[in-house]
Amino acid sequence: MKEVKKHGVAGSAIKAFEFFIQWHLTERCNLRCRHCYQGGRRVQEMTLGEVKQEIDEATAMFEAWEGEHNLSVSRSIHFTGGEPFLYEGLWDVVAHARKQGYGVALMSNGCLVTSDDAKRASTLKISDIQISLEGPPDLHDSIRGRGSFAAAAKGVETLVGFGNRVSANVTLSRLNVEQIEETTETARRMGFYGIGFSRMVPCGRGKALKDRLLSPQELKRAYQRVLGLSTPSFEVVSGDPLAGTLLESKVPFGCNLTLGGCSAGFSGITITSDGSVMPCRRIGLIAGNLKRKPLRAIWASSRLLWRLRRRESYQGKCGRCPLWPSCRGCRAVAYAHSANQGKPDLFADDPQCWVEGESEVTLRGSSGRLPL
Ligand code: SF4
Ligand code: SF4
Repeated sequence: MKEVKKHGVAGSAIKAFEFFIQWHLTERCNLRCRHCYQGGRRVQEMTLGEVKQEIDEATAMFEAWEGEHNLSVSRSIHFTGGEPFLYEGLWDVVAHARKQGYGVALMSNGCLVTSDDAKRASTLKISDIQISLEGPPDLHDSIRGRGSFAAAAKGVETLVGFGNRVSANVTLSRLNVEQIEETTETARRMGFYGIGFSRMVPCGRGKALKDRLLSPQELKRAYQRVLGLSTPSFEVVSGDPLAGTLLESKVPFGCNLTLGGCSAGFSGITITSDGSVMPCRRIGLIAGNLKRKPLRAIWASSRLLWRLRRRESYQGKCGRCPLWPSCRGCRAVAYAHSANQGKPDLFADDPQCWVEGESEVTLRGSSGRLPL
């Protein structure tokens, strides 16, 4: 749930559509975080030329959507890894994306940032650089490895020194939930402009921490505290669909269009370093591969993506829930949790959902029309 950004709106009457690509340039990383969703798989990375060509393909898809659907697409690419600063062609790729009009964000552990990187990021006007933070120094190091806090703090200082907009991202679990306020204060002192909170997904290395998953009520209290900490001078946010349920709901009763929530299948896509296309990196299921099919064809025809879009797929609590259009839970947590119990099901109930008393709503077939 690194996606702290609010997800776009999708439906049949849309005139503007926000869409992001989360692009994992490499699986290589300099850290071995305890909760990481990666399982350490080795893959053949796309070459620099191939990545640039795929950015061109994505641009062609967005332009076709705009031309054919008469809408304006606000598009962004979030480059990450592994650790994106280990990818040799990072600045070439970022420059290529910026030249084509993409808003670009970076998601990193911050440990490898040099002055040259900070200067290039500033010159290329990267909109947001998200650096992972798990808590105050000792807690951060206990999750990400010894010395990682000091290295990340230096990276943040360097980036901020060159005028970059840098935000912190925290992965919440029982390991660090007690320190929400302290972590927020730590981030403020480090020079971040704001902080986002997301949930741990118990897959990859994080599977070993499945007992540290917060209970529904623990998660609810955590997000209530998170949302209460935001001030005009320091943004404290969460892009988690469940956190969104604590905000005032404007979902019309019985609505079957998507109005936000989990972006998987709707308003974002993940591309991994070997060209695999996934609904979300943390779900980890593959919708197609760019080496065999263009991005637009995968988006339009993948059975996996279509199942995520159809309300009928959600047979449990989410399918009956009036908040389905703006939530749908975290499919990655639901999938990982059900897999850990020996029954992998992408449409299982979100095990951390605290919302009760969901009422039956009339199902009217598939969700609203998306650009394809
Ligand atoms: S499954 Fe949805 S809510 Fe969960 S991390 Fe992925 S995009 Fe975010
Ligand atoms: S039941 Fe599903 S859609 Fe409803 S609030 Fe819970 S996670 Fe969200």
